Amino acid sequence: MGFDGPQARATAMARRALDEARVEVRQGSEAPDFDAIIDRAETLMIEELRMGLVRVINATGVIIHTNLGRAPMGSEQIRAVIEVAGTYSNLEYDLSEGRRGSRYAHATRLIARVTGAEAAIVVNNNAAAVLLTLAALCSGREVIISRGELVEIGGEFRIPDIMSISGARLVEVGTTNRTHLVDYERAISPDTAAILKVHPSNYKVVGFTSTVPARDLARLATGRGVTFLHDLGSGLVTDDAPADFTGEPLVQVALEDGANVAMFSGDKLLGGPQAGIIVGHTHHIIQLERHPLLRVLRVDKMTLAALEATLRLYLDGRTDEIPLWRMARTDADELERRARAIAEELREIGSIKVEAFPTRSVAGGGSLPDVEVGSWAVALLPDRAGASELQRSLRRSDPPIVARVEEDRVLLDLRTVAPDDDRTLAAAIRRVLG
Ligand SMILES: *Cc1c(COP(=O)(O)O)cnc(C)c1O
Repeated sequence: MGFDGPQARATAMARRALDEARVEVRQGSEAPDFDAIIDRAETLMIEELRMGLVRVINATGVIIHTNLGRAPMGSEQIRAVIEVAGTYSNLEYDLSEGRRGSRYAHATRLIARVTGAEAAIVVNNNAAAVLLTLAALCSGREVIISRGELVEIGGEFRIPDIMSISGARLVEVGTTNRTHLVDYERAISPDTAAILKVHPSNYKVVGFTSTVPARDLARLATGRGVTFLHDLGSGLVTDDAPADFTGEPLVQVALEDGANVAMFSGDKLLGGPQAGIIVGHTHHIIQLERHPLLRVLRVDKMTLAALEATLRLYLDGRTDEIPLWRMARTDADELERRARAIAEELREIGSIKVEAFPTRSVAGGGSLPDVEVGSWAVALLPDRAGASELQRSLRRSDPPIVARVEEDRVLLDLRTVAPDDDRTLAAAIRRVLG
């Protein structure tokens, strides 16, 4: 079984460039000149040799962008990953006892300290956290949920589907816009295992609405001997987030309000690696630890290392070293200064005007539905070549740049661009427009 080396792949790309030229000629075009064929072969080769998964510059202004990999990590978080990736580690080894240990021990102690939870466990993502919790605590029994919270998070994650895979039986109460405590009360039966509350992460019901506060649901659940589960979604753990984020539920508050088990993502407002973090009472978490699904949904050492480093930054009060919070807290003046500097440098290329432009960025793609922050962008005002064509060219540059288009302008929102990337961004714009 042999794989072709780079030489053989280069030959194949040259042949493909020639084949393309032949097809064009057969369709009646003029034969391309020699240089054009070489250029085309070179382009194909670069594409062929380039990694499939590459870094991109996120100029959308969306801080938690699911399609662009959600939260980027800072140097300390990355260092922790590199440290364990290339060596052996005490992943499942208890160094003081010299025998098998638990891979979860390292992170869960810190999760408990950050959130105030009695116990915790970590799985692959929050979807997995919801699945494991329902399977371990509610399988074969009923789970009550408001019709206003039967959500689809995106990417095939729908609460009713997860519920059915877990073996729990869904009991819907209330209506899309209004659910009352009495609706839950009436639905509780001897078969009820839990009440589940799901945070509306990616939508907002406005107008004539009513939902039951977590605290009331917790009190009802406790009184009737059922478990109260709270899917928080984004996992905010710091109360010194910018004001725009304060609508999101704090994990600590959810626990104080009486959630027996709460779950959230590691790569949304925690600003860490992809993970699902489950916090709650020890006797519940032990049931999750013993469930066979935990092995299926388990996280690897790199995730655990990144998570531990992330949690340490919170405990040390160094949240500015978490890129998510650095970006969220950058004030608009600073972004304006950077936008003006880039616009000043480029000004006008060909017939395309480059300007600094005030805008608003949304915090989350698929999370934080109405969180908007004032921001500044570099705006490109195309003439004949349309804005979407320009946007496409930026996506094809190296590194690719993802921008948004608003009213015929291409906007490069600097809130999500690292200051170190300003020069790269300016150079790419110059190349694309030049
Ligand atoms: C994002 C989200 C999920 C899914 O989390 P992943 O980490 O993407 O699997 C589940 N529930 C809620 C409420 C969410 O916001």
